[in-house]
Amino acid sequence: MKLTIPSNAEKILHILEENGYEAYVVGGCVRDSILGRAPDDWDITTSASPEQVKELFHRTVDTGLQHGTVTVLMDKEGYEVTTYRVDGDYEDGRHPKQVMFTSSLEEDLKRRDFTINAMAYHPVRGLVDLFHGMEDMQAKIIRCVGDPMERFHEDALRILRAVRFSAQLGFTIEKETKNGIRALAPNLKCVSAERIQTELVKLLASPHPDYLRVAYETGITKEFLPEFDRCMETEQNTPHHCYTVGEHILHSMMLIRPDKVLRLTMLLHDIAKPVMRKTDESGRDHFKMHATEGEKMAKTILRRLKFDNDTISKVTRLIRYHDDRPMPEMRSVRHAVNRIGEELFPLYLEVQKADMLAQSEYRREEKAARLQGVTECYHRVLEQKQCVSLKTLAVTGRDLISAGYKPGPELGEILKEMLDHVLEYPQDNDREKLLALLKER
Ligand code: ATP
Ligand code: MG
Repeated sequence: MKLTIPSNAEKILHILEENGYEAYVVGGCVRDSILGRAPDDWDITTSASPEQVKELFHRTVDTGLQHGTVTVLMDKEGYEVTTYRVDGDYEDGRHPKQVMFTSSLEEDLKRRDFTINAMAYHPVRGLVDLFHGMEDMQAKIIRCVGDPMERFHEDALRILRAVRFSAQLGFTIEKETKNGIRALAPNLKCVSAERIQTELVKLLASPHPDYLRVAYETGITKEFLPEFDRCMETEQNTPHHCYTVGEHILHSMMLIRPDKVLRLTMLLHDIAKPVMRKTDESGRDHFKMHATEGEKMAKTILRRLKFDNDTISKVTRLIRYHDDRPMPEMRSVRHAVNRIGEELFPLYLEVQKADMLAQSEYRREEKAARLQGVTECYHRVLEQKQCVSLKTLAVTGRDLISAGYKPGPELGEILKEMLDHVLEYPQDNDREKLLALLKER
């Protein structure tokens, strides 16, 4: 087996070996190049200790000396070079409590999570595949290296990683590995929110975000997203829907492009439906105010999972407005863009489309026509550069001050009124005109 590896990675292997050490590229990059996916990064594993690595290369960064990792900088790229090691328990759920270095590649490969992630490659010696990773790759199987119960006990994050890799690659999880997941999913409680977040985002932004269903079925979501479990258990007795809330969510995620903000929005857009559900005398369900409540719940959930503020604010805003349905005419669309925000509006349109397509066929044509109309109006707003926010209002606070108005909070109110006027009469977005109108008043 011959793999193409970057010349700088090859150079690092060569320098290490010239100096009497062993070195291989390893893990995700080997897996991805065999699968014909472009690896994100090339990790190197070596018998040299971190100090020995640092002696051989001029430019290095101490990325994680305690776990044996030094980043070697070559041109503009960094390569993580890690000493062969054996891991202790992952006590804090973040890093192994203690690591021991070893001179054996086999020991290093044994500590890795799945067979497809436990292969090493050397340009001359070829592929080192001690746990039948190639076979599992061909059979499209995620399988633990060694005993699943033991491996999940050592580090419960691997439980979620199994589902993440299966979603990224479209692989199935091998039976014993799946049994281990079911048995030990409760241990995910002890894993830090940051580590869970990383794997969750990779799962959601994958070609199979609906594999979150497997995470539900095996008891994984129960540990860090029990709100989603409620959704899987909530029916929707309304003609608009043909799935439970949870299945609707899973379908909607598949119907939107693999972007982190969009997938998180779909994941959480109906998260409040189980708590807002009201069944009327005829047995029909209503979910009034689920978007407003959903915004609150999503904020709590995203904070709990330690997402950054930018992601939280975008996702929660999209959730608040996901059910906002302006008429397909210029005036209401201008108001909607102003309300939802210029930056988020195109994303909001994508959210509405995915949401609609994951519903039943009931009134589908009517819903699709409205959304199409709104989309067209939005494009016209852009083409005609119509003003929908203070950013492009022809008058600024400074203009008002030059015109003799005193600085202060009233200035903001005047600008707001001008913007309201311009949202109604886009042709009036002209400085002279707006100032004249103000004088008239
Ligand atoms: P990605 O494309 O997402 O980066 P990856 O396989 O490179 O996938 P990383 O999380 O970057 O995943 O880890 C690199 C390698 O380190 C893995 O391929 C695996 O061999 C090993 N590894 C990472 N995390 C663990 C873990 N929690 N337990 C055991 N081995 C792990
Ligand atoms: Mg990686």
